[in-house]
Order: sequence, then structure tokens, then C-alpha cells
Amino acid sequence: MAVSDRKDFINRTEETRKLEKRRSKDFIREIIEEDIRTGKWGGRVHTRFPPEPNGYLHIGHAKSICLNFGIAEEYGGLCNLRFDDTNPIKEDQEFIDAIKEDVRWLGFDWGDREYYASDYFEQLYQWATDLIKKGLAYVCDLSPEELREYRGTLTEPGRESPYRNRSVEENLELFRRMRNGEFPEGSRTLRAKIDMAHPNLNMRDPVMYRIIYAPHPRTGTKWCIYPTYDWAHGQCDSIEGITHSICTLEFENHRPLYDWFLDALGIHHPQQIEFARLNLTYTVLSKRRLLQLVHQGYVRGWDDPRMPTIRGLRRRGYTPEAIRAFSELIGVSKVNSTVDINLLEHCLREDLNKRAPRRMAVLRPIRLVITNYPEDQEEWLEAINNPEDLSAGTRVVPFSRVLYIEEDDFRIDPPKKYYRLAPGREVRLRYAYFVRCTDYRVDPMTGRVTEIYCTYDPATRGGDAPDGRKVKATLHWVSARHAIAAEVRFYDHLFIKEDPEDVPEGQDFTANVNPNSLQVLYPCYLEPALASAQVGDKFQFERLGYFCVDPDSSQDRLVFNRTVALKDTWAKLERSGRVDE
Ligand code: ATP
Ligand code: MG
Repeated sequence: MAVSDRKDFINRTEETRKLEKRRSKDFIREIIEEDIRTGKWGGRVHTRFPPEPNGYLHIGHAKSICLNFGIAEEYGGLCNLRFDDTNPIKEDQEFIDAIKEDVRWLGFDWGDREYYASDYFEQLYQWATDLIKKGLAYVCDLSPEELREYRGTLTEPGRESPYRNRSVEENLELFRRMRNGEFPEGSRTLRAKIDMAHPNLNMRDPVMYRIIYAPHPRTGTKWCIYPTYDWAHGQCDSIEGITHSICTLEFENHRPLYDWFLDALGIHHPQQIEFARLNLTYTVLSKRRLLQLVHQGYVRGWDDPRMPTIRGLRRRGYTPEAIRAFSELIGVSKVNSTVDINLLEHCLREDLNKRAPRRMAVLRPIRLVITNYPEDQEEWLEAINNPEDLSAGTRVVPFSRVLYIEEDDFRIDPPKKYYRLAPGREVRLRYAYFVRCTDYRVDPMTGRVTEIYCTYDPATRGGDAPDGRKVKATLHWVSARHAIAAEVRFYDHLFIKEDPEDVPEGQDFTANVNPNSLQVLYPCYLEPALASAQVGDKFQFERLGYFCVDPDSSQDRLVFNRTVALKDTWAKLERSGRVDE
């Protein structure tokens, strides 16, 4: 086993072990197993994924999707897809369609359980009137500013609204008229009557309904009062018979309210469980921020390969398997933290390594002429498609007198430990021959090498030298006559700082946008087998990394995205002075 293979092997088993450990310790699964054991829900496990259709899903949502659908799968339960469409101002059918597509792409299925909070508006209205009748809700005429003012702070109790003690009859009448559209937007709210001195601000008579005159993507103009998240969420969970309502940590101090509403109504009462949301280095994960990046033109769209959206990741070349493996690996926790983006890339590499066919491509080409190779000759040499998966078979690659190699693979004055091509030195051309550099030509204007001259040793075809002499480097190459010219897009992190929110006073996160996050190379030269590559196809370009075909490709021009680098990029090795080891 080669050193690098051995390292891979060790890494993999270590990760599997870590994963198993985490699996058995994950506090959410512990709660669920305990509930199954005690028969709390009659053995049922029913979760839901509740996106608000106001943007595209991102890798943080993927964590929640994998958790909710994954748990349902593991325990023989169900997971609903529920759109939390309670705010018509920001929501759109476009997002609903995209969310469904993305969840499916990740490999999950909600069967016929596609629900909308808006489907329950009538039921929620009825329940609100029930609370009014019980003296637990009232119509309040305070303006939004006054509401805020009356609410108090963490250190000071709030003040009771002057409208708090209206009679049940008056409240019922006013609430009915709110629904009928008799009052202007923002003039009245329906509030729960709890406790204005409660230490938890969410319990200080929270708003349940506000008046909004905006058409809803699904209910049109039927409603002009819309439920708040807190009023809608738990009741939707209850209607659907959810057992475990899993959400992120910022809802922890909403839980008392979640419980209060369900208890006040006396209906099925799921358990809310909070976990830490995913944060990633060099990445923002908030729909509002992502929207800003798109609208202000920092990226080319929601599916820009630099975006952490599911569609951005997909276009970049991520596979659902890699994203699911990542979600499992990071596990769930009660404490907020930030995950190193390298871990996400690691999961991708692990997956692509197993299945991406190998090809040869030269990204920064320089011509190499084999002076003792006949002008009109060509040979088709056998090359392995994937050393990790021999069932992937072989292909043939054309070899001829004029080739392209990477500019970086030749040095006039090679530094110490640089074992690649240099004047007088011999190297192996992958799947082909040993070649020795006899000469080179330099452009007098730029000082750059324009052409390299070599001789080849016909006795070394596809293998070693019969006399046993060794070379220290193997280079990839492409036959110039047969090459396909393509565009290759390289991506760097979208932000220059690990924490994009780390900005000086008065600036926002866009101050940290990396101005060099996209680099376009053209022409790059590819071996001809790549001519038939289809949009989305993924390959390992030998020694360079993983690449996939971008939808911008046309008849005249193939466009590739660099998905992720190989683990030991040449650049890294070079920086540490360990070239070619
Ligand atoms: P954002 O904060 O990105 O705007 P959101 O929380 O407003 O997202 P929703 O559509 O309300 O987005 O989220 C749907 C589900 O996905 C919720 O259960 C939410 O807790 C979960 N979720 C959102 N972001 C993350 C994240 N970074 N990590 C884990 N889960 C997340
Ligand atoms: Mg939200």
C-alpha cells in the first residue's frame, strides 16, 4: 500500500469509528429511543421539516433535513414536509418549487405528506377564538412601536396594554372584524394573555395575529390576518400528529410559549427539541444574507457554485451522498459552534474518489515536442478509469509528437526537491513513455518558456525502463492534435475571513467578500474522451482535483467547475517544500 493510500485507509476507519460513537451518543436519538422504550407516543416517531418559502435552501437546512428525515427512516417513522407560509410578504411559489426539488435531490421523500401552514388557517382562527372565549387572548390596539415600548426589557418588566381587559364579547367581535378587513394594516393585533412581568420576553402577551393586506401565494386575498410563527408552529405540529418537533437553538426560549399554547388548547402536544444550527467557516448561512449576495451582484445567482445553497453546491459538483455523510459526521449538539469548511470538502473528496472517473487535462498548457517521435504517428494507449474501482474499466488516450503539459511541471532552474521536468532530466508521461528534456524555447519579450523539446525512449511504453533506471516524477499530458479546448472555473472561498461577520464598526459582512473568489482559465486542454461529457458529470483530472461540467457549457465550449482540490495539492506541497514526495 502506498503511503497516501495507507493514510486514507486510517482516516476512513477513524471516521467510521467517530461516526459510530457519535451516533450512539446523539442526545436527540437518545430521547427518541427512550420514548420508544416507554411507549410515550405509542412507539410512533413523526418528525417534520418546516421551511419558510422565502429563499433557497442552504447547507444548514440540509443538516436539518438529514436529521429529520434520517431519524424518521431509522426508527420506522414518518417525516412531513411542511411549508411555514405564514408571512405572504416574503414568500413565493418559486421558492416552494425549489425547496421540493432540493429535498428530493438530497434523497428524501415525504410521500403524500406535503403540508402548508396556510392549509390550517381556518383551524388556527377557530382555536384563537377558543382562547378568546377562555379569556386567554385579546384584541390590542397598540401600534407596533407602542407594543415594543410596553414589552419591557430583560431587566425591566413590561406594562399591561390598556386593551388587555376587554370583554370576551368585545374581543370576539373585534377579532371577527379584523378578519373581515375592517381595520387598517398594523392597527390591531390579537395577543395571548399571559404575563407582562414574565422573565421570558416571549411570554409577555405575545402577538398571535397581525393585519397584513398582502395576497398569499396559496390563499390569495382570502385572509388579511396572518398568524405569527409562535402561534402557527406548535399548532401545525399538533394537527399533523408530530411527536418530536426538532428545531434550532434560537427557539429554546420560545419553547415555554410552544408548550403554553398547546396546553391552553388541550390538544396533542409534541415535544420540541432544540439543537445547535450549523455554522461553517468562510460561509454565511442566512437566507437574508444570501439574498443580499445575489441582489447586490457578488455572485451570479442562487446557484452560483460559490454559494452554500443546495443548488450552488450541486452546480459546484457536490453529491447528495457527500452532503449526507457530512451531516452525519458533524452530528448534533446543544452548543453552538462553527464547523471547518474543510470537513465538508473532505466528505466530498471521499465520495468522488470512489466514483469519479479519472481523466487527463492540462489547465495551464505549455507545448512539449518529442523530436524523435514521427510526425504522422499516433498511438492509442490504455488508461485506467478509476484505480479505486477497477470495474470502471479502461479507455484509450491518444499520444502523438506534440503534447501539452502543465506549465508548472517544467523549470529551467529546478529548486531543491523539485523532481519534475527540467533541462536534461527524465520523467514518465503517465500511461506512455519516459521522456528526457533536451532543449526549450523562451519568449524574449516575457521571459516565459513557450516550448519544451524532449526525446522519448520507445522501450518504456506503458511501463518501466528495461535497464531498470528510475524517474522521480510522473506527469499528465494531452495530445495537442486531439485535445479539446475547454473553460475551467476555479473557486475560492467567498469570504476572506473565517468569520465573515467579523467586520469593523459600521460595515456589513460584504466588506469581507473575497474579490478573487472566481478565476477563469481558457483554453485548457482535455483528452478527447471528455468530448461526450454531460452537464453535471464529475471527473478527477489527474493530479489536479475534481471537476464537473457546468450548465453554461455549449456546443462550442465545454465549461468545467473545479469542484474541490485533491487532498495534497501541488501548491500546498510546494509551499511546504515537499514537492513530489
Ligand atoms: P435562515 O436563518 O438561513 O434564514 P431560517 O431558520 O429562517 O433560515 P427556515 O426556512 O425557517 O429558515 O428553516 C427551516 C428549518 O431549517 C428550521 O427547522 C430551521 O431550524 C432549520 N435550519 C435553518 N438554518 C439552519 C442551520 N444553519 N443549521 C441547522 N438547521 C437550520
Ligand atoms: Mg425562519
